[in-house]
Amino acid sequence: MKIELTTLEDIVNPEIIKSIDSIKKEKLKSIKCGDEEKANECWRALKAFDLNVLYIRAFNNIKNKRYRDAWNELEKCEINYEFLSENSNEFFLINTRSKFIIDKVIKWQSLYPYCLFVSPGFKVGYYTCSICDHRVRPRSRCGHKKGKIYNGELCLHVAHDMEILEVSIVSTPAQKYSVMHDDATLDFTLIEYISNILESAFEEWDLNRTTMRFPKERFANVRSEDDCPCKSGREFHGCCSDKKEIEIPHIDFILSKSIPPDKEEISFPY
Ligand SMILES: [Zn+2]
Ligand SMILES: [Zn+2]
Repeated sequence: MKIELTTLEDIVNPEIIKSIDSIKKEKLKSIKCGDEEKANECWRALKAFDLNVLYIRAFNNIKNKRYRDAWNELEKCEINYEFLSENSNEFFLINTRSKFIIDKVIKWQSLYPYCLFVSPGFKVGYYTCSICDHRVRPRSRCGHKKGKIYNGELCLHVAHDMEILEVSIVSTPAQKYSVMHDDATLDFTLIEYISNILESAFEEWDLNRTTMRFPKERFANVRSEDDCPCKSGREFHGCCSDKKEIEIPHIDFILSKSIPPDKEEISFPY
């Protein structure tokens, strides 16, 4: 698939809509006449298109400071990429920018201040295969493998008779949608900084995590009961308050262009 998608406007470009429609038609035709390879090829092209659209939306939401919406789209990108990579080769993933997208999705997620999530635990009565409706049991499986495509359709195990058992609060959730924070109380400085510099969703950037030492005098405004600037999660008193120098986490952003002088300064919160 040739991709010329970069902006939100491109998503509604009549030429692109036309070419996506023709892939959808092609897929239906291939399913009908049993051309499984062609149907799967169409599935891949459509999935890669969806992934690009999702990422462009996420990038725009980040730029417009709608961080929670962007977070959910980044999560969808991750799930989408998983299915795609399971069913495509390396060349396809690079060519459709899918590799670029997953690399950036993980980096954006790492810049979010979210750390607590709600995780529901379920009891599932039984599963069926989405391809053939077979009831999946430990010793009775159909020939379809979960996450693989068959004749242009993704095989999933559909859960039936689900019951919520418990809800727990976790830091590394299986799904990242249920964030437990109020965005208004969080610090999005890092995301804001890098998103102000990036102009296009597909501009190259990277980050490098290090630490930096600052003399204690820079932290004169930190009260002893405040969180320690070293981000240990402990109070300042009893952590770094007696040290001459305090080592704090630092991120270097690596860009393919020089940073405009007005954006060079990052604010120091202490
Ligand atoms: Zn099956
Ligand atoms: Zn400390």
